[in-house]
Parts: sequence; structure tokens; C-alpha cells
Amino acid sequence: MNPQLDEAIRQRGKAFFASIRGESPSIFNKGFWTGKVMDWAMQNEAFKVQLFRFVDVLPYLTTSDNLSRHIEEYFTGGDAGDIPAVLKWGAEKSGLFGGVAAKLMGKAIRSNIEGMARQFIVGEQTKEAVKNLSRIRKDGFAFTVDLLGEATVSEVESDAYRDGYLEVLGAIEAEQKSWKPFGAGEGGLDWGSAPRVNASIKPSALFSQARPMDFEGSVEGILARMRPVYRKIMAMGGALCIDMEQLKYKDITIELFKRLRSEAEFRDYPYLSIVLQAYLRETEHDAAELIKWGRAEGLPFGMRLVKGAYWDYETVIAKQMGWPVPVWTRKPESDIAHEKIARLILENSDLVYFQCASHNIRTISNVMETAAQLGVPENRYEFQALYGMAEPVRKGLLKVAGRVRLYCPYGELLPGMAYLVRRLLENTANESFLRLSFADGEAEDILLENPHKTLDRELEKNPPKAPAAPAVIDGLTAFRDEPLADFTVAELRRAFPEAIAAVRAKAGRALPLVIGGKAVETADRIPTVNPADPTETLAVVCQAGVAEVDAAIDAAEKAFAAWRDKTPRERADVLLRAAAIARRDIVALSATQVLEVGKQWDQAYNDVGEAIDFLEFYAREAVRLGAPRRMGREPGEKNHLFYEPKGVCAVIAPWNFPLAISVGMTSAAIVTGNTVVYKPSGLSSLTGYGMADIFKEAGLPDGVFNYCPGRGSVMGDHLVAHPKVSTIAFTGSMETGLRIQEKAAKVHPGQAYCKKVIAEMGGKNAIIVDDDADLDEAILGVVYSAFGFQGQKCSACSRVIVVDSIYDKFIARLTEACQSLKIGPAEEPENAMGPVVDPSQQAKVEEYLEIARQEGQVLVERQATGQGCYAPLAVVAGIRPEHRLAQEEVFGPILAVMKAANFDEALAWAMSTRFALTGGVYSRSPRHLEKARREFRVGNLYLNRNCVGAMVGRQPFGGSKMSGVGSKSGGPDYLLQFLDPRVVTENTIRRGFTPIDEDDEWFD
Ligand SMILES: Cc1cc2nc3c(=O)[nH]c(=O)nc-3n(C[C@H](O)[C@H](O)[C@H](O)COP(=O)(O)OP(=O)(O)OC[C@H]3O[C@@H](n4cnc5c(N)ncnc54)[C@H](O)[C@@H]3O)c2cc1C
Repeated sequence: MNPQLDEAIRQRGKAFFASIRGESPSIFNKGFWTGKVMDWAMQNEAFKVQLFRFVDVLPYLTTSDNLSRHIEEYFTGGDAGDIPAVLKWGAEKSGLFGGVAAKLMGKAIRSNIEGMARQFIVGEQTKEAVKNLSRIRKDGFAFTVDLLGEATVSEVESDAYRDGYLEVLGAIEAEQKSWKPFGAGEGGLDWGSAPRVNASIKPSALFSQARPMDFEGSVEGILARMRPVYRKIMAMGGALCIDMEQLKYKDITIELFKRLRSEAEFRDYPYLSIVLQAYLRETEHDAAELIKWGRAEGLPFGMRLVKGAYWDYETVIAKQMGWPVPVWTRKPESDIAHEKIARLILENSDLVYFQCASHNIRTISNVMETAAQLGVPENRYEFQALYGMAEPVRKGLLKVAGRVRLYCPYGELLPGMAYLVRRLLENTANESFLRLSFADGEAEDILLENPHKTLDRELEKNPPKAPAAPAVIDGLTAFRDEPLADFTVAELRRAFPEAIAAVRAKAGRALPLVIGGKAVETADRIPTVNPADPTETLAVVCQAGVAEVDAAIDAAEKAFAAWRDKTPRERADVLLRAAAIARRDIVALSATQVLEVGKQWDQAYNDVGEAIDFLEFYAREAVRLGAPRRMGREPGEKNHLFYEPKGVCAVIAPWNFPLAISVGMTSAAIVTGNTVVYKPSGLSSLTGYGMADIFKEAGLPDGVFNYCPGRGSVMGDHLVAHPKVSTIAFTGSMETGLRIQEKAAKVHPGQAYCKKVIAEMGGKNAIIVDDDADLDEAILGVVYSAFGFQGQKCSACSRVIVVDSIYDKFIARLTEACQSLKIGPAEEPENAMGPVVDPSQQAKVEEYLEIARQEGQVLVERQATGQGCYAPLAVVAGIRPEHRLAQEEVFGPILAVMKAANFDEALAWAMSTRFALTGGVYSRSPRHLEKARREFRVGNLYLNRNCVGAMVGRQPFGGSKMSGVGSKSGGPDYLLQFLDPRVVTENTIRRGFTPIDEDDEWFD
């Protein structure tokens, strides 16, 4: 940056500070409750966490008992100590807990927090909001009004969100006539350039089904509801700004902005703006592209530049998903980006009307001075601040720039609390300009410093850590999960239809068995078809009979000794090569599943990702377990424990995770030195064949893996009972799992092994929704867990147990959310639910729906039309623990709803089946969460999230009771099941002479 400009910015900033000296934003004013509490929160991180979480749950605490209980749970004991005096401020001076004192204190705390929320909200009702907007204008500020409640989970809620805008705009319309424009007022415009009415809108709220995977559907879904709002605004001569939300909606938002701006109806109306966030690394590029687009189209528009409100979310989610972090990670980098992009916009001020939204005096001063340097006319840019925040800054801005707009949220307190938490975080973050200047008293020179200089200083103090050399154990880096599908990446969205077409191009081919490395064809063949259109045959699969099973077992037995005698590392290397191949072909492998079993794109992609994880994880586990372990340290004797494979393993796999579970069981057997006869499900034999291809390309010796699809009725029992099979790894229904255990228990002539059975079976998984659960999250979590992949996951939620006091609200929103899901072929990304896997599954679901009609009340019944195997999506209320719908696994999209009197009853009901696989709890009560942790005895318990999608190495998966026998897949004990431990003891004493080794226990 040129030094004169930088100096001008600093001088401008100093003058700014001087003009507001001695003033402080109300949130930091220690004369009031909020200021005191904020001060305490900034000194005490544990209190801050509890406070913000408490603010979040407060609107749900509708009874005084509930309120007192939560105050106690959040603020006493543990790190937080006793209830901080500051929180009790304004309450009766009684230290006693319980009874009247607690009630009074609760009341005072509630009213203080609600008061704090109101500080940021222009009104809860339209009338009040409009009155306040008028007052704001009287004070000389323009406004942009924003409706709270953007977390819409259904189309009805999205309609209500749109209607909320139409309502407030209607009320403003009547009022605006009395508003005189600011400045000279040419054309009735503020400052001669800006409409007096201005609204900001969160696009994702306008379409509850918006998601990156369905890019086109999301853009059009949002536009359908945004058009009437914009039309109304246009009729009023107002302006609309499309807010920017999380990164996942960014490209959708840019696209819909362009479409709306350029539509014939709106083309000649220039008052549409979009927000860009400087904290995203790609925003500079986006800004340049938008400007290029505007020029090419000849369409002027507005751009609000912010730093961005979701920094914490974006960083954490990227880390969890394994995606590159999309935001700058050092605060001055975001400041630099804001300055750079601001210049770009100002350089194009003939086209773009600039809205600088920041409370940072350096950032603001930069815009003022850059605009002056570039000679940008004043009516081509304005400043914006959030209502209720940074009052001195906005006042100062009004004095200096005159053109200031306040962002004014309005609406109910419930969604308002979520907004309040965001604002509190923003105010109290260590890096926040407001905190540094008004609470921490940082020096002005530092606050106004050129961010490049700040960055240099920071880099010097905390140099970037060289990417930590990945920890290497036995030549292998530590395990990391494969990144989950990221459909914000346009190439991935494009790749799916192409890959699906490629699967179709090969449709109809015959798939042989693979025995001892040779293709074996049989006369008995069955087609594998697309459940969305059963007339579409994807492949014709040769079926193994008893003779082929015998041949496969022979081949596996022959290959065993040589494979067993390889080192663990040699075997692991084959898995690692297989992982690399699967990674290369991930979209192609996913596309096969989309067509063969009806998995949605994301679910299919993540299934292949999980298969890769198993390969990578078990490769490392095998190496870890491969080294002999010395037991005891006594001199004169050497005891070594080590593991050996058992022999031939039958892998009997399901169709629901057709690659992941197949690869998981197979790779575990193989990497530990066993050989495998693999029977895929008849419904997913094409996907299973993919595994044969992968292992072949990875260089697995012939006979170690034998692909042996066949009819269960013909060869299933034979495979299980075969005397040469030592291990059976099975995943599937409880009935088949129990049958396998029974068959495996019988010893046949020639059998040398007690067979080991590893069986993952069913579930009847429950999610508990507590009375203080965050319903925005709980509803989405339950819907995803119950209906993702049509409920055909062993982990799926099939019962939701809702605590009475929140039941009505939950059910009303849940049913609408279910009515909003699109149903249809999985290959179309707009469909959240597809067909079930085959006609028998379809019939089973329909049978249970009949049972549901007798046992409860069907609240939702959605039936897709078309020739596919579409089973009804159903939500059934009135189910009690003794009902069949509460006890039997349906394995389809039927959700039983149970109303429990309280959390304890909900917990007891959750545990009242003979399964124990997954479970979930949505609650914001620390005590209830703790109780669930202890007493909700299932294999995988999920607190405050959905109950599906366990990740290898992070959430080892598997249950107990009738849900399975064996250790958790993707966990540290899994491989041991495929191994026999042996110990060799050597006496090293010869006539009293004993060599003493370093690791012997000996004298110093
Ligand atoms: C009128 C108005 C409208 C707004 N509309 C939107 C909107 O549509 N979408 C949206 O996302 N936000 C929006 N915001 C919120 C805005 O993003 C925040 O208020 C803003 O980021 C705070 O920046 P600042 O310049 O005021 O403060 P500063 O304190 O200078 O900056 C704080 C910001 O720096 C960034 N940051 C913090 N830590 C780091 C780090 N370690 N590395 C890199 N960057 C970091 C974050 O973006 C953080 O918010 C709006 C704000 C206003 C005033």
C-alpha cells in the first residue's frame, strides 16, 4: 500500500477515535447487567461457554422449575463454581437455592438476558419494529430490516419466512411516505442514491431443502420465494440485499443473485445487492468475477463487503469433514482481504454501489480514504453497522460520513437468542476490534496499524508451523478419515451424472464368479437391477452353487499358507494400494451404488469413503498387531505373544453399505493373513464385483479373495457349515445372523476349528428429544437419521421418543419437515429419499404400515409414484413400548413416535428393546446428557447429533444384545477377531548361565 494512503488512513482513524473518546458500546458498559456479565465472561472462559450455552437454551425454559434446574446445572459446580454473583445481579439478595428464592432469581436472570437480546433486535412484532425503524431514521440512520428465524426445516416454514417479509414490507410501505429522504433527497432517495426501504434476506431460509448437492434445485427453490419479496420491494421503490451465509450456500447465492438481477422483470431495477465475506480465501476471485459479469451484462448492482460471521463454524466443520479450511486463519489476513476487495469494488464504483459493513475503525477509515483517493462520488458508497452494537462507531460514522445504515433484525425472541449468541461471540472474541478497543483498551496505534504490518508482527511472534511432518509408525503415517463428499465443488457435482451414464453404458454384461483368480461362469444367473426402475438391468450375475462354493473354499485354502507367511506389512501394502485405487475411482464406484441400491449421491460417496477408511485403518492396525509382544520381564525366560490368522473366512455381506461393509469385513480378514470367500448380497453384486476388481489391480495373490455370489437358499448354509471355514464375518438381519450362529455351532466331520462368528445384526434405534432440545437441530437430525437412504441402515433412527412438554411443537415441525422431502430416483440430486432396495423390502414396509395403522396414528404417509420400489415414508404417533412398531426392526422409512412423560421414562423406553446398536439424545441439560452417557446402553450413542454415519477410527461401530456379537468395526479390537493369539515361552537358562537382556527386570 502506498505510504501516504496508509498515513491518511491512520490519521483518519485517529480523528475518528478522538471524536468518540470516552464512549463505549452499551454491551461493555459496566454500569449495567450486560456489561458486567460480558466483563466476567471475558475474564473467565469456562463461564463464557456456560453463559452462551445458557442463553441459547433459555427460550425453551418455559417453566420456573425448568429454569431453576438449568441455572443450577449450568452455573454451579464443576469449573464454573457457584453461580457467579454477577449473574444474580438484580435478583433478590438470597443465597439460598430452591423454593421462592430460586424462582425469583431465575426470573431476574431471564429478564436480564431477554433485555440483552432486545438490545440487538428492533422489535418482536411488526408494529413495534416499524415504529423503531422510524425512530432510527429520525436519528439520522438508514436501515436494512432483517427477519429472524432463518432456520427453516420445512416448506411451510419457508413460506412463513417469505410471508413475514411481505408483512413487514406492507407495514413499512404505509409508513415510508412519512419518511423524508436523507440529504438533498433527489428522486426520493436517501443521499440521492439509496432507496429509503431496504431489506436483507437470508436465502437458505427461503427453501428448506437447499443443499449444495442439489445446486440447480436450490437456486430455483430459493428464487421461487425470493421473487415475490423482491417484486414487492420493487413496487415500493426499495432495495434488497441478499445476505451471505455459510460457505455451503455461497455459490448457490451468487448464482441466484445473478439470475434474479438479470431476469427480464427486474433487469431495469438496480437496487439488488449481494454480500461477500472477506474471510473466505476465494472471495477476491468471486468479487472480480461478479464485477466482470455485471459489466458484460450491463447490469449495475450493490455489494456489501463484510469480514464474515461464521468463522468458527467454517473452521470446525472443515476440520471435521477433512476439507481444506476455506477461511483465512489469521485475523489480519481477513483485514487485508477486506481492504483489497474494498479497493476493487471502489475502483468499479460506476457499476457497483459499495456497502462497507464493519465496526472496525481501521477498516472503515481505509474505505473512506481509498474512496477519496480514487475520487469515488459519495453517493456511490455507504457504511453499515449492526443495530445494538458499536454505538460509538456508528455515531462517529454518522458525523464523518453521514451515510450510515443499521442492520435491524426483527422477530421473535426464540430465534433472536441464536442471533444474540452470534453477536455476543462477535463482541467477546479475542480478535474482535470492538473488544480490543472498548474492553481491553488496546493502543490506538496498534488498532489502526496497517494489517500487513500486524500480520508480519504476528508471523514473527507465532511463525507458521511447518506442516507437522506426519507421524510415521513403521513407515506409515497416522490414519486419517477420507474427506466426506463436498458438493460445493462444482466438478464433483458434474462428475456424478457422467459416472452414472458410464455405469449405464456397461449395463447388461454378465459377471462371472472369481475363484482362485479365474473367472468362472455358471448357468444360474440373476439380474441385478435399478430399484428406481426394476426393468433396468445393470448386470447379470453368475450364481455359485454348492460345487462352486467348494471350489472357492479349496482355492482359499490353497492360498492360505503362502499368504499367512507374508509379513503384516506386505499384506498391509496390498490394502494401501487398494485404497489408492478406490480413491481414484471414488465417483465411479459411488455411481454404481446410486443405480444398484438407490443411494443418494452423498450417501454413496461416503460409503466408498468409508471403504477406503477401512483399508487404510486396518492396514495400520495389522502392522501394529503384527509385532510379537514380550509378556513379563523376568530374566531367564522369554514369553512372546503374537497372532496368527485362522484360515478361510466366509464374508457374507449386506446390500445397504454395499462397498464399505464388504470391504471392511474382507480387508480385516485378508490383512490378518486369512483368505476369503466373499458372498455379496444378490441385490448389490455389481458393487461387490468392484471390490474384486480393486483387489486384483492391487496385486492380491490369486485365491486370497474369491468372489462368490450365490443364492442364500442354495449355498448360504453350505458356506457357513463347511468344515474348512474357520471364521464367518456377517452383517445383516438378526434372523440370518442367529441362523448363522446356530449352523456354525455344529461341528462337521473333518472340521478342525470351532468356528468364530462375527455378526453385526439389527437395531431398533431411538433418538430421545428432551424438553430443552434445540428443535432446529433435532428435527433435521431425526429426519436424516430416519429417512436417509430410506431408513435402510442398521444405525437408522426408527423410534423418536419425545418428552411430553415439547411434544406438540416437535411433532408439528417434524411432520411438515417430512412433507417437504422430495422422493424419487436417487440419481436425481433433489430427491432426499429414493426407492427401497427391492419389492420384498417394499412389501415389508407396507406390511408394517398396516400394523402402524392398528397400533398408532399415522401422521405422515408419503407415497412416491412411479414404477420403482417406493415404500411409503411414514411417521406414526401413539406408539408405546409394547407395540410391535416399537420392538421390531422394519429397515425402511417408518418412524415410530413415542410420547414420554419425562426424560427418565424416555430413557427407559429407549432401552426397552432387545437391540442395543445406536441411540441419540437431543438435550441441552448437562445432567441429562451425563445420565444418558451412563445409562443409555447402546453400542454407539450420539449426543446432540444424528445417529448415523459412524466414522472409521473416530466412532468404532457396533452393538451388543441382539444387535451383534463381536467387537466394533473400525476400532482397535476388530482385527483380533480374525486372529488366534499364541504364546511361545523359551527357557533361556543353560546350567545356570542366563544371558540378561536389556528389557529384563534386573538390578541397577
Ligand atoms: C450491516 C452488516 C451486515 C452483515 N451481514 C453479514 C452477512 O450477510 N454475512 C456474514 O457472514 N456476516 C455479516 N455481517 C457480520 C459481519 O461478518 C461481522 O460483523 C464482521 O465480520 C465483524 O467484522 P468487523 O470488521 O466489524 O470487526 P473485526 O473485529 O475487525 O473483525 C472480526 C472478524 O474477523 C474475522 N476473523 C476473526 N478471527 C479470525 C482469524 N483468526 N482469522 C481470520 N479472520 C478472522 C471474522 O470474520 C470476524 O467476524 C454483517 C455485519 C454488518 C455490520
